[in-house]
Amino acid sequence: MGMDFEMEEVECPICKESGGEPFHIEGPFQMVRCSSCQFVFLNPRPTSDSLFRFYQQYLPEEGSSIESWKKMMRPVFHRATHLLQQYRREGRLLDVGTGFGFFLAEMKKRGWDVTGVEISQKAIDYAKDVLGLDIHPGPLEKAYFPNCYFDAVTGFYVIEHLPHPMDFLRECHRILKPGGLLLLRYPHTTPIKNLLQFFGIKNRLYDLPAHLSDFSPRMIQRCLERVGFGNCDHLIGGYTLPSDFGKRTASIFFGSFSEGLFYLSGKKFLFPGVSKAILAYKK
Ligand SMILES: [Zn+2]
Repeated sequence: MGMDFEMEEVECPICKESGGEPFHIEGPFQMVRCSSCQFVFLNPRPTSDSLFRFYQQYLPEEGSSIESWKKMMRPVFHRATHLLQQYRREGRLLDVGTGFGFFLAEMKKRGWDVTGVEISQKAIDYAKDVLGLDIHPGPLEKAYFPNCYFDAVTGFYVIEHLPHPMDFLRECHRILKPGGLLLLRYPHTTPIKNLLQFFGIKNRLYDLPAHLSDFSPRMIQRCLERVGFGNCDHLIGGYTLPSDFGKRTASIFFGSFSEGLFYLSGKKFLFPGVSKAILAYKK
């Protein structure tokens, strides 16, 4: 990537209690585990300024890679579209970390009133100029939406990138209408990492320093409830389709396998290590 990061030591982003115990090393980066709440996070981590610069180059640039990104995310967006429309036929939707805007474009086509927040200028330009969407430059806390404004807020693979996840959840809660739906999709890497490590296989699964933390389903639910969400519902499945054949095969295999187990177990068994989604409602 050829980027220099300015790093800073941080306290636990969830409980503010400790700097954490070393847990996993990838190159120059170190994941730690909070000794008080067990949250897994990157420490030290890049400063907000260097992260902002990093995200100006994070998404693909050429038309062909934008197209393969769209293909990769299609099954995830397809699933989310259904979930939202089960909740309401239409309404006011905010997507945070909206990227090029393909999900919002789909929801707009289905009659929703859509808005996005994004920090990559290239992605903002594409979503506005090519797809004609309404996009605010991020972060969310600087977009200053009114209280109780949206029927639904979505965030696909966003929360693991945020330096202040609790502030983000509080802001989602503030701008949602009472009863409003928050849908978050996130990777859960720690169990797979532990498994590979057990077999002595070196891995760089955490995608550092882009991912600042790794939420478990239990941790994300605890955080949501703390800021005033309830009726949390965990989901699994709707795998991505990367263009690389090996990665795509793994994604389809683990995605389908874990989804099968989830439903066979009466929606109880959340296969560790694969991406998950959580639905939560503003109380
Ligand atoms: Zn903690």
